[in-house]
Amino acid sequence: MRIYEIINKKKRGQALTKEEIRFTIEGYTSGLIPDYQISPLMMAIYFQGMNVEETTALTMAMVDSGDIVDLSGLGDITADKHSTGGVGDKTTLIVIPIVAALGLTVAKMSGRGLGHTGGTVDKLEAIPGFRTALSSEEFLGIVKKHGLCVAGQSGNLAPADKKLYALRDVTATVDSTPLIAASIMSKKIAAGAEVILLDVKTGSGAFMKTLEDAKSLATAMVDIGKGCGRKTAALITDMSAPLGYAIGNSLEIKEVVQILANDVDERSKDLYEVSVALAANMLFLAGRGTEDECAKMVEEVIKNGEALKKLADMVEAQGGNRLYIEDVNSFKPASTIKEVVSPESGYIGSMDAESIGISGMILGAGRETADDEIDYSAGIILYKKTSDYVEKGEVIAAFHTTKSETITAATKKFLEAITLVSKKPDERIMVYQKIGFK
Ligand code: URA
Repeated sequence: MRIYEIINKKKRGQALTKEEIRFTIEGYTSGLIPDYQISPLMMAIYFQGMNVEETTALTMAMVDSGDIVDLSGLGDITADKHSTGGVGDKTTLIVIPIVAALGLTVAKMSGRGLGHTGGTVDKLEAIPGFRTALSSEEFLGIVKKHGLCVAGQSGNLAPADKKLYALRDVTATVDSTPLIAASIMSKKIAAGAEVILLDVKTGSGAFMKTLEDAKSLATAMVDIGKGCGRKTAALITDMSAPLGYAIGNSLEIKEVVQILANDVDERSKDLYEVSVALAANMLFLAGRGTEDECAKMVEEVIKNGEALKKLADMVEAQGGNRLYIEDVNSFKPASTIKEVVSPESGYIGSMDAESIGISGMILGAGRETADDEIDYSAGIILYKKTSDYVEKGEVIAAFHTTKSETITAATKKFLEAITLVSKKPDERIMVYQKIGFK
């Protein structure tokens, strides 16, 4: 087999065989095939695409390049979720204690935030003492005892994806649906869960800006998951505006706790709806009942406090101080809190999620580059959400920061994100479509 022939075949739009894909990935990972031959292959895939058999073979070859987490013997049903990322997206921290309280086992690997999007690992590390760098024994021990654990991505899960992603990043081949789908799914499959629910976001703050692109990514990922023998489905959810009222790490933990304490604020209704839909559909996919029954079970463990207790148990097991969950006022506030007022009167027609995410990043809640430090107390509290009416001079949001010099730039970015209209906009649709449940 020769890599030259493989590049040529894809360039002409022909499908590659499983053996050719495995040969390519193994050769690239071991260093036998150089970057200058994989780069044109990635570009050929970008233009010619890949069919389901090819993306599944690519995913499995990347999975087999590293460790596969063995979750056997940990619980009846192991489940995982993945979000393509967004602003104020704290659904993982709501969903996993809920499904764990209902008997699913969740051994979750999560990432850090970059740019306008946040990451679950950063949010959890806002809790003093919380550790996400765990040995595999410790990780699996916590899962066995409590039914859930969230760790940072282990260095040796799908190393071929890491190498390939770095190359795609500098060869303008990141935005290829089959390559994104195989990249995400290689890490999910290697993480070992039998049930995988994908939350594919669409809208201004999402990786996939249009519903059509979100649908094709969701379909590609679901096909791969099923092709790899995992129960996989996806919800396509809205990310045209931030989810909930809090953006920024400790501020988001407070909103999570408020929801799990069944004290749902009007401004958290979108977040509550998406979280309940994700949890209920995860249980449904795991065969725990009809969709209605699963939604009722979810509401029940929120009402009776079992989901909140699960979160506190996980925090304690991972070295965090559970007091911060039991009393969220324990979080140290930012040194500067500045209100932002509306320049005009009107209904909020849209709140561009990406610009609001960047505004939060400027305040210190996120990273512009992977090496930046974040300020856990920084972020934004929204007082108004899409379709609310605001008077000129009324407070729309509060900025929290320890760097007061960032407020001017953050305010400019934030106000650019808000569009005021004279007619009350229609209610936002939060769950657009479900894919793969049949
Ligand atoms: N996230 C990933 O993990 N991989 C991609 O290719 C794109 C986004």
